[in-house]
Amino acid sequence: MLQVNNLEAVYQKNILALRGMSLHVPEGKIVALLGSNGAGKSTTLKAISGLLVGDGGKITDGTIEFQGEVINDIMPDVLVKKGIFLSMEGRRVFKDLTVEENLIAGAYTRKDRGNIKADIEKIYGYFPKLKMLQSRKAGYLSGGEQQMLAIGRGLMAKPKLLLLDEPSLGIAPLLVQEIFQNIKKINEEEGMTILVVEQNANVALSIAHSGYIMENGRVVMQGDAASLLSDNEISEHYLGIGKEGSKDYKEAKSYKRRQRIVW
Ligand code: ATP
Repeated sequence: MLQVNNLEAVYQKNILALRGMSLHVPEGKIVALLGSNGAGKSTTLKAISGLLVGDGGKITDGTIEFQGEVINDIMPDVLVKKGIFLSMEGRRVFKDLTVEENLIAGAYTRKDRGNIKADIEKIYGYFPKLKMLQSRKAGYLSGGEQQMLAIGRGLMAKPKLLLLDEPSLGIAPLLVQEIFQNIKKINEEEGMTILVVEQNANVALSIAHSGYIMENGRVVMQGDAASLLSDNEISEHYLGIGKEGSKDYKEAKSYKRRQRIVW
């Protein structure tokens, strides 16, 4: 469904944020994009959803193909109509609108207005808490509730490809589990293709089919989720989820230098 090929992107003409980034998101799958702060994960999502230019950035090389069409220079609103929706970190909900109004707003590009009510009920099915809060202004919700709302609003657009930027950010661990289990359920029941950016590698890989690890603007590791999770060295050195105690710095550096691709 989505193919990113050797993408290069800069901010303000000289800050190189992506340096040959490539990834593949097959239809119907969940793909996790992982990596440390500043690796280029959000930049990748912004490039795919057409929002890079609005943030002072630009694609300078490479291609992004969505369903076989190169979409490098397409405006964000057109990309939403084509079926790509970026759900930003949760606090970007419309704070003065109620929960239900936020969900309705998510469907603004849809032509099938008649199905909106049923789809809102479906989202309340995934996130029962939102139903309880349906008349409350979104600005009064907790961080986790806002995150659920942000995901729900994304679903209301009925995208073919849902991009999620750090759904776990600032959320208590138990709620993180619940949100990710719901993302998995949405993928299974709706067949929705999902690319999720996460710092919390453990939880993202627990629901993803495959994963990519970024460093310095490019992919340094890729593989199916189970093999990334089960490789102790990858877990320790790239994902910060060590299983067998810490290794010394020199060993970690030499391992990183090898940068082998597992697939
Ligand atoms: P995090 O997990 O911390 O959000 P990330 O992997 O999403 O990190 P990006 O936000 O994509 O990383 O940032 C990649 C690089 O681009 C960083 O060096 C960052 O400082 C830089 N950058 C991001 N946004 C801008 C911007 N609007 N202007 C200039 N530089 C930017």
